[in-house]
Amino acid sequence: MPFDKEKYNEFKLMLEKKAQELKNALADFTFSNPQAKNDYISTMPDYGDCEDDNAREVSEYIDRKAVEGTLEKELQDVEGALKRIVAGTYGVCKYCEQDIDEDRLKIRPTSSACVECKKKFKGEV
Ligand SMILES: [Zn+2]
Repeated sequence: MPFDKEKYNEFKLMLEKKAQELKNALADFTFSNPQAKNDYISTMPDYGDCEDDNAREVSEYIDRKAVEGTLEKELQDVEGALKRIVAGTYGVCKYCEQDIDEDRLKIRPTSSACVECKKKFKGEV
């Protein structure tokens, strides 16, 4: 364990806040899938019934799906990091098992690999 309890709590609060922000952002245009945890389903906007409206709805829906995918992925990363905090493996590189630099975690708290490994496995992570 690279950090003391207090530091873990700091990261935990930061990650929990981030998770909440992502969930709030998703709630604007999706509902959560009752069948699968952390899966969100974009809603179709309703602008009206004429052809133009339908075309706008479809194009808006495609945009929503794209944003939904990005936010979902981020949320998964954040929840993964929170799980690592609980498991006591947070801040440890998943490849070389060395401690991840604290400054790196501050910038990107969901990091699960150190900079060296990230470079080595670039494209795979
Ligand atoms: Zn590493």
